[in-house]
Amino acid sequence: MPYGFGMREPPRALAYGVAVLATAASLFVRWPLWPVLGDAVPHMTFFPAVVVGAYFGGFWPGLLATILSAVAANYFLTQQLRSFHFSVNDLTAAILFVLVGTIVSGLSESLHRARRRIVAHERQRAEAQLELARVNRITTMGQLTASIAHEVNQPIGAVVANANAALRWLDARPPVLDEAREAIDSIVKEGNRAGQVVGRISALVKKTPPQQDPLDVNDIVLEVIALMRSEMLRNRISLQTQLAKSLPLVQGDRIQLQQVMLNLIINAVEVMGKIDERELLIRTGTDAANDVMVEVRDTGPGPKPDSLERLFDAFYTTKPGGMGMGLAICRSIVEAHGGRISATANLPQGAVFRFTLPAQPA
Ligand code: ADP
Repeated sequence: MPYGFGMREPPRALAYGVAVLATAASLFVRWPLWPVLGDAVPHMTFFPAVVVGAYFGGFWPGLLATILSAVAANYFLTQQLRSFHFSVNDLTAAILFVLVGTIVSGLSESLHRARRRIVAHERQRAEAQLELARVNRITTMGQLTASIAHEVNQPIGAVVANANAALRWLDARPPVLDEAREAIDSIVKEGNRAGQVVGRISALVKKTPPQQDPLDVNDIVLEVIALMRSEMLRNRISLQTQLAKSLPLVQGDRIQLQQVMLNLIINAVEVMGKIDERELLIRTGTDAANDVMVEVRDTGPGPKPDSLERLFDAFYTTKPGGMGMGLAICRSIVEAHGGRISATANLPQGAVFRFTLPAQPA
């Protein structure tokens, strides 16, 4: 497997550099052996260089190593040292050598191609997985919400029934205080039961603590952009990025922060659906406190001025079929990372969502 499957393809210049170095190294090893070996099979000395060049860089670096080796062998390692006067045998050997080198390089190139295909496939799989995780999360959230609603509805129903009963006992002439007290006792009990249900659920959620990895927010932004690129193309959205050259690292959970970016970008794409000017600007930087700042600006219709406070509330939605959970999730993730998220109007039109995350202490 050339250069290890799953690793990155080496930069082209490096691949050619390796081919040249490997050839030079072969000559360097063979040269002092001249008194012992003479001009015996000079080309074979260079075969490792061809293999290294082709293995590392594919066809062209392999071919470069082959040609350099053939020239070096015929110049340095034939009877007429350091000259290009060589016998027919030497020439035949050189031609054969170039032929074999070309074949080896070609074979290695097909391995390189296969590796590139596998890497692309892996990338697609990772993207699909992220999307699946997103859908999963939404589905799980839907199920969780339904079961919370069920568990909490029962005690709340009982609270309302008992409160009505208590009112009736108090309204009676004369009021029946014992019965009213009993009804109010039940209200307290049922209220506590609802509290326990909610407490159990929060304990469950807290059981999976978020990761605490050092993260470069620019990477997260780029990963999510890569994920959304085709969606943005399909929606004819022109994307601009202004990413700070070097950002302090933040500490947190990569998947959760990707989720925040994903939600903000999906929202921006959705709201710009019916607008002619579809521009998305994503900026990163640091604020006055040296916290890392990410901004997502769109040219959509913008948030309604009186809704700015409520955008991040769970279940607040203006979309038909919307869940109103996206921004609520963003806020809880950002705040769990010690940061803040806010929305303002973009000028002349659109929305700006900005969040900050504390920089990791140096
Ligand atoms: P949903 O997308 O399901 O409605 P969100 O919590 O993601 O839930 O968004 C809540 C609401 O905030 C949206 O329904 C919309 O009214 C408003 N909103 C979100 N993003 C934007 C935006 N980029 N521009 C204007 N309004 C937005």
